[in-house]
Amino acid sequence: MAASAPTISFVSLGCPKALVDSERIITRLRAEGYALTNRHDGADCVIVNTCGFLDSAKEESLEAIGTALAENGKVIVTGCMGAQPQSISERFPNVLSITGPQAYESVVAAVHEAVPPAHDPKIDLVPPQGIKLTPRHYAYLKISEGCNNRCSFCIIPSLRGRLASRPLPEVMREAERLVAAGVKELLVISQDTSAYGLDLRHAATSWKGEALENRILDLARGLGSLGAWVRLHYVYPYPHVDHLVPLMAQGLILPYLDIPFQHASPTVLKAMRRPAAQEKTLTRLARWREICPDIAIRSTFIVGFPGESEADFEELLAWMSEAQLDRVGCFIYEPVAGAAANDLGLPAIPRAVAEERHERFMLHQQAVSLAKQRAKIGKTVSAIVDEITPKGGVGRTMHDAPEIDGSIILSASRPLEVGDIVTAKIKRADAYDLRGSVI
Ligand code: SF4
Repeated sequence: MAASAPTISFVSLGCPKALVDSERIITRLRAEGYALTNRHDGADCVIVNTCGFLDSAKEESLEAIGTALAENGKVIVTGCMGAQPQSISERFPNVLSITGPQAYESVVAAVHEAVPPAHDPKIDLVPPQGIKLTPRHYAYLKISEGCNNRCSFCIIPSLRGRLASRPLPEVMREAERLVAAGVKELLVISQDTSAYGLDLRHAATSWKGEALENRILDLARGLGSLGAWVRLHYVYPYPHVDHLVPLMAQGLILPYLDIPFQHASPTVLKAMRRPAAQEKTLTRLARWREICPDIAIRSTFIVGFPGESEADFEELLAWMSEAQLDRVGCFIYEPVAGAAANDLGLPAIPRAVAEERHERFMLHQQAVSLAKQRAKIGKTVSAIVDEITPKGGVGRTMHDAPEIDGSIILSASRPLEVGDIVTAKIKRADAYDLRGSVI
């Protein structure tokens, strides 16, 4: 990079989807010769990619903007919070520009205005796979934006709009480039992965001469043929999800399904505007396990939703005992400004009650997880190495996504490398993590 290259400091907040937006903007800026720095002080300008999902995330975003203004002064704001620009401009009238999510062109245009690009013909070109903020051996692959569902606790559809899927060949090209650049694990993300292609009317397309359709089943098959681990996140429980499980049994994609069920009481699910047939879901879970006995089901839940009675909550705990989920996250309901749930006329749950339910939920699931994890002792698993340690490394099994699930602490008699996929025998287990030795 030329010594005189203008420098940009970048703050990326929020979910993996926002991280992909950041990666795209950075890729473009790097291609134009901008350099990146992690210090606001001395940078030519700062870009803050905000998250507006929860009020706590909004507060974190506002703090990041405030810090950038204090330390640098030239600040460009983008991301989810930018979809409601007045919430930023009222507090920080001096920011240079505010744009919503995926507004790559506008962000780059704002950078050009604040700091024109240096014209250096010898400038480094971006590697074909782009610049990734995630470690080299795994990468997030965003397949669509927006969402057609209207879950009452969620403002994502109003922030990010209706479902807009990327055409299958475009996703495949990106995935192929990532794998060619050394990525060993592709994490498929979107707001609603199972709805992929609905907006494209599942139109016929092709990839390398093979006739395919713009739908998740064909995309999963295509991605599975690239030779990397393929992990599906944010799968809404539509009936056609059942067809993905045989691909897991065949080893084409990882035996891992991340389906946010959110609750189990039909009353709460109805108020949340989520599918409410949890009895049927238990039957489906049993069927999935029959087809692919090694499948891990990950889910997230919300406790303390308005109107959630003690009976609703106990119904959730009883359902959890039946469902025997493998990986579980739980959030306390937050009345996000603009969410339809605030206008349902349902009584808010006092914070202390919601916190107590959260704790009970976690303890309940810990017992389920511990039993499931202990049952793995003595078994042999595949693990991807994330980190090297003096005695071996820290990795993840096929049942563990980065950042959100557990790890496997590996001991090895030979040197490991980040991104290696090894076979390990499990020696010990707690509710979240495993210990094993590489064979
Ligand atoms: S599926 Fe529901 S929770 Fe997920 S983004 Fe769409 S509206 Fe929000």
